[in-house]
Parts: sequence; C-alpha cells; structure tokens
Amino acid sequence: MSDTPFLQAIAVSKIYPGKQLSGVKQTNIVIEPGKITAIIGESGSGKSTLLRLLYGLLSPDEGTVLFKGERIWGPEEKLIPGHDAMKMVTQHTDDLNLFAKVWDNVAAMLPATDLNAKQQKTEEVLKQLNMARMADKRVADLSGGEKQRVAIARAIITRPQVLLLDEPFNQVDTSFREGLQHDIRQIVKEIGLTVIMVSHDPAEVLSMADKLVVLKQGEIIEEGHPKVLYQYPQNLYTAQLLSNCNVLTAAEATLCDLKATKTNVVIYPEWIKLKLITKTKAWTVNQVLFKGFYEDLILQQNETLLRVVNEESGKYTEGDKVAVRVGKWLEY
Ligand code: ADP
Ligand code: MG
Repeated sequence: MSDTPFLQAIAVSKIYPGKQLSGVKQTNIVIEPGKITAIIGESGSGKSTLLRLLYGLLSPDEGTVLFKGERIWGPEEKLIPGHDAMKMVTQHTDDLNLFAKVWDNVAAMLPATDLNAKQQKTEEVLKQLNMARMADKRVADLSGGEKQRVAIARAIITRPQVLLLDEPFNQVDTSFREGLQHDIRQIVKEIGLTVIMVSHDPAEVLSMADKLVVLKQGEIIEEGHPKVLYQYPQNLYTAQLLSNCNVLTAAEATLCDLKATKTNVVIYPEWIKLKLITKTKAWTVNQVLFKGFYEDLILQQNETLLRVVNEESGKYTEGDKVAVRVGKWLEY
C-alpha cells in the first residue's frame, strides 16, 4: 500500500507520573521518508520524549506509533529496545571505545561474516563523513566534533532506514558544526536516509531541515517548511524560537510608526531599515555589536529596546540618533 505513511504517531500521549504537564499529549505526526524533519521547542517541551516514542525507547500511554503500517514495539516487548531499522545518536558518545582506532569503532558495527564487505563499507562510510584520514587515530585523541562524526558513522554503517538525532551537535564547536550538518545533508541525499532531529538551534534547523515541527508543552502547535515557518509563524512562540526577534507591545510599536491591533508586535532584526537624523525625539544607538560581516545594533527610545541588523558596518556609532522604517511585522 503506497499510501501507508512511512513513520507515524497517532494520538500518542506519554505523561510522566506526578507531572500533569510533562511528556507529550495526543500527538499526531507523519514522518516523510528521505527527508530531514526537525522537532523544535523550548527545553522541557517534550522533544526527546517524542523522539523516544518514535524510536520505541518509550511506550505511549495512549495512541500508537506505526512504522510502515506496523506498530512499533515498546521497551518491555523487546530484548534490545528501539526499532531495528532505526539508529539514534545523542550528544553523549559514551558507547565509543576510546582506546580503539576510529576504523575499529566503526567496523565493529558490522558482522565478521564477510570481511571484504566489512572493509569496503567501513571505508565508504568514513569517506562520506570525511573521516578517512583519521581512520588510524584513537578515538580518545579526537575532538568533540570528530567523536560525534564517529558516532554518526557507527549509526549509519548498518544502513538504518531512520536516523534519530537528539541535539547531537550541542558539544560540537560552531566551526565544526556546519561541516557536519552539510555532510549529513549530503548523506541524506545520497542514500535516501530519513532523519528526525531534535534541536533548539535556529540556525541549525533552518538550514538543515526539510520540515519543522514545533512542540510546546507536549503539543505540536504548528509544522511546515522552514522558510514558511520563519516568514509566517502562526505563533509568537515559533517566531521566538526561530528568530532573535523584537517583541513589542502595541503601544511600543507606535514608536516605529506601526498601528497594531493585537497585543504583541514581532519585528525581526532584518526587517528594520535605518536612517541617520538629528531630531531629539528619535531612537538612539545604544550598542553596536560587531558580528563580522554585519553588526547588531541595539536601539533605545524611552524604555524600549530594538535590535536591528545593520549590513553597513561602521555607519553608526553609539549615541547616534536614527529613524527606523519597518518593512514587515507580525502581530499576535
Ligand atoms: P525536551 O527534550 O524538549 O527538553 P523532554 O521530552 O526531555 O523535553 O521532557 C519533557 C518533560 O517531561 C519535561 O518537563 C521533563 O522534566 C519531563 N520528563 C522527561 N523525562 C522524564 C522522566 N523520565 N520522568 C519524569 N519526568 C520526565
Ligand atoms: Mg531533550
């Protein structure tokens, strides 16, 4: 049946004892094959719980999780918890053998029945993850980011159909992160892997995911393509997860010449254009934060602060008076 969803949770709930407002509640989600789905939400919103339910590390209190139409077994029903067609990588790389070489750590995941295949597949995976030149290094001598690559290599060498990532890049330096994100995207394209990732880093999910799922207090409040969710979030919560945005009251928004009808006005820092002026009743540049090829300016008027992205580095200095023009805003 081609219309059977690949991986699906139907009305699943998992409430932890003693805590009414924890876990996930009545959640429906459909995971598309060959795509990267990112689950985002504030800390404690139920991201890891949902991921563990999808993998079969937790049994739902209510509802079902189906993989290709078949119910996923919970940990009480299976000797080794977790669905056999899936692999999970978290930020803890505890199961690596620190004193063995990278090569052996990865090759150990394959049976020793066909040594040729073992050799070939290990080589292939190390190449895909740009680890070939480190094959003979001991894992103990690797950086955090490199260890994480080994963990991912170990997960994908067995060719799982689904790779689950629970904030796996948290301990990885930003400079290493982008390379790793790129390599994972590449692998998804090459071998048609399905990835479900949990993250709270907007830059990461916006550039990596094909679809975002937003969790708030154990419930999915919206989902969609990263571009759509970024530009048109249905909820203030989503806007705040995805952008370091300004949230003003309707009264404060009048300082930007906006007449809002709802309570909260959201303005992304890149939606604001500036002009130098000499009026006293204007915004004052309070701080200039150097960001490399751009600056973040913090403007102030009365008690209200406004964060603005400025691409003309050096144009404004602290104390300057400026007028703002807001090209786009959202109201909630
Ligand atoms: P996230 O990954 O989004 O930070 P989690 O899924 O880990 O959130 O947790 C969601 C909520 O459930 C949190 O309030 C957390 O404290 C609670 N929780 C998670 N695991 C357990 C557990 N084993 N026992 C009790 N409460 C838990
Ligand atoms: Mg978590």
